[in-house]
Amino acid sequence: MSRTADSDLAHLFHPYTNLVKHPETGPLVITRGQGVRVYDEAGKDYIEGLAGLWCTALGWGEERLVEAAARQMRELPFYHLFSSRTHPPAVQLAEMLAAQVPIDDARVLFACSGSESNDTAIKLIWYRNNALGRPDKKKIIARERAYHGVTVATASLTGLVNNQRSFDVPIDRIFHTGCPHYWRYGEKGESEEQFATRRAEELEKLILAEGPDTVAAFFAEPVMGAGGVIVPPATYFAKIQAVLKKYDVLLVADEVITGFGRTGNMFGCDTFGIRPDMMTVAKGLSSGYLPISALIVSGEVFGPIAEEAGRIGVFGHGFTYGGHPVSAAVAVETLKIYAERDILGHVAKVGPVLQRGLAALQQHPLVGEARGVGLIGAVELVADKDSRTAFDPKLAVGPRVVAKAQAHGVILRAMGDAVAFAPPLIISEAEILDMLGRFRRALDEAH
Ligand code: PLP
Repeated sequence: MSRTADSDLAHLFHPYTNLVKHPETGPLVITRGQGVRVYDEAGKDYIEGLAGLWCTALGWGEERLVEAAARQMRELPFYHLFSSRTHPPAVQLAEMLAAQVPIDDARVLFACSGSESNDTAIKLIWYRNNALGRPDKKKIIARERAYHGVTVATASLTGLVNNQRSFDVPIDRIFHTGCPHYWRYGEKGESEEQFATRRAEELEKLILAEGPDTVAAFFAEPVMGAGGVIVPPATYFAKIQAVLKKYDVLLVADEVITGFGRTGNMFGCDTFGIRPDMMTVAKGLSSGYLPISALIVSGEVFGPIAEEAGRIGVFGHGFTYGGHPVSAAVAVETLKIYAERDILGHVAKVGPVLQRGLAALQQHPLVGEARGVGLIGAVELVADKDSRTAFDPKLAVGPRVVAKAQAHGVILRAMGDAVAFAPPLIISEAEILDMLGRFRRALDEAH
């Protein structure tokens, strides 16, 4: 084992890792990247099929982002936005975001991660309803298999067992309703349309059972990412939004993965006809080069919050590094590159190559469903295709296939037995085919 790997085992506390097995398997030490590829310390190259953690949209080695960071480092490496202070990169980025989101009179509040922005959204929802004199309207509904982060409040929104078990979450006031995974949860004989209607009716029943005067907001990823890349039926969000409107429940779109072209439009909201009251973005905002996230709210959401802050004397929330000038400068440059290189046009061109490739894998004996949109997708591995019977989780089939894929030089991510694909948005057609070819070899070996 290398000196780095040895030292890792002695000193690092790894997130999202089996901490008992880690010393046995050892770390994968990645030392550099270029384009859609990363390289380990022995020089072996891997196609990064998940853009790191769904974030490195422009791939590795994008010199313009390096230059933007260096310029800003020299000019103003730190300043903050507290107490009416401001700086040009944060203002420019807020202006660019406000012009792009499907939100009226948008206001942008910066943070450093998706978790922080979603956590902030929860606080603002509560703050606003106090401001409006509705102190009981505080409950929040998210969905089973959702992923909204890992702070105490956002891990509570997240609907995945590993993020909650033994952590003493969820906190109260947070509820979950079914997720729109038709292939897994659709009933026999039920059409996709009927399934979407059923999910909207379940949401309505939950709101009525809790009392509409106590339900404040609904959180949703346009495409659920960490829950297994779940693409909703076409009419799902229209039906959900009708219910939310009826009971004056705010819609928070978590665009942390789906923002900035991933689904083929600038936002997942555009792809699925969602008009949110609040939106959170991160990851692709800076192409993962530096940490930055944003919570974007409508003027209607902002108004009562501003008035309440005026009554109290200060809006008592903010992160030291929220809207950090170097991160903001990199994000501004990232958004410029997306526009100049027509990243949406590129996704429109190569997205179908990924989706056709995944659909072709559906013929494989291990693949129960292939799904996706734009440049995000997954294949779900099953023990029996006809009955859709899942593998025993103890067999860890998904992680085993992903380990084999890694041996073939492609890094992917298993969420249970769903294997996710979300490569850098700059990926070429040939690289997509190469990635899928390597994955197919891994599948064949696992079969
Ligand atoms: N929301 C979604 C949809 C995510 O996928 C993630 C992270 O993967 C988060 C929120 C949390 O973001 P972070 O890890 O930056 O806190």
